Amino acid sequence: MRAVVLDRVGRVRVAEVAEPAITEPDDAIVRVTLTAICGSDLHFLHGKAPIDPGDVLGHEAVGVVEAVGDGVEDVAPGDRVVVAFTIACGACWFCTHGQTQLCEHHRTLGAGTFGGNLAGAQAERVRVPAADTNLLPLPADLSDERALFVGDILTSGLYAATLAAPEPGAVVAVVGAGPVGYFCAQAARALGAARVFALDREPARLARATAAGLEALDVGLRHPVTVLAEATDGRGADVVIEAVGSPEAFESAVDVVRRGGRVVVLGVFAGESVPLQLGVFWARALDLRFAGITPVHAHWERALSLVASGAIDPLPIVSHRLPLEDAERGYELFDRREATKVVLVP
Ligand SMILES: [Zn+2]
Ligand SMILES: [Zn+2]
Repeated sequence: MRAVVLDRVGRVRVAEVAEPAITEPDDAIVRVTLTAICGSDLHFLHGKAPIDPGDVLGHEAVGVVEAVGDGVEDVAPGDRVVVAFTIACGACWFCTHGQTQLCEHHRTLGAGTFGGNLAGAQAERVRVPAADTNLLPLPADLSDERALFVGDILTSGLYAATLAAPEPGAVVAVVGAGPVGYFCAQAARALGAARVFALDREPARLARATAAGLEALDVGLRHPVTVLAEATDGRGADVVIEAVGSPEAFESAVDVVRRGGRVVVLGVFAGESVPLQLGVFWARALDLRFAGITPVHAHWERALSLVASGAIDPLPIVSHRLPLEDAERGYELFDRREATKVVLVP
């Protein structure tokens, strides 16, 4: 079958690879009908995370179940499904307590050694372990493109908005209006926020936020503290979601939240640090919540219904639709930030 593999650091290619096979009783084989390139795939492209040349990339997919192992009960051949972006066992303490991102046997498709050596989803077919946990059946009338992001960033946005828990009528600020921030903002509105500000500098992102009915705030033009103060009789945003993963964005989030407000940190952090004045956080009675990786399985059914009802519209983030055979160009466009989101059709 055809699949996107790492050629060498800095380059992918589409190659002929071995067909996946059922190796455990809880496996399923999914024929991929749509897959996508994610920001985290670039870490492998650039050699920041280990993967071997020839390994299949990707972890976002929608498809049709082709075969299942003897132990699979909840999905069957012919079912249309979306694949979870992290592979959880479904049975450990964390999985049975809704924290599948902290699974004792946490794996990721297409993520090399640290992902459990599973082949990726940018392929004609993919093997999905613990299929009952990691595949979500789709309603027949929901298109592949609308369903795709339920397995990853759309549900991340809903998860962050759920942690942010805006009261009805709340004023919400989302720092970063990239694809993840876009979904955070849409989810916050779906959960009852009255006004949702999307903070960014990039004109295309701000335009997309405006088109979705959000209040786009160009932080290069106006100071966000001023704008959020004006919107709240001087208090500041009730809740803020940091959807970038940079010290600057974190500090901006803390700056625009009101005293007694809540900041949810969804952006991915690694080695960065910022000085925290504990007395300031204490005196302002801030509620600071670190989201970590999204426990997608705990929130994706709700995400799916929000997409099906039209409350969240995923299509505006898709900038490119390419055949799988053009994946090399897709990676180049995405790496040069000329594409917001590239979907690949096997
Ligand atoms: Zn992803
Ligand atoms: Zn587990």
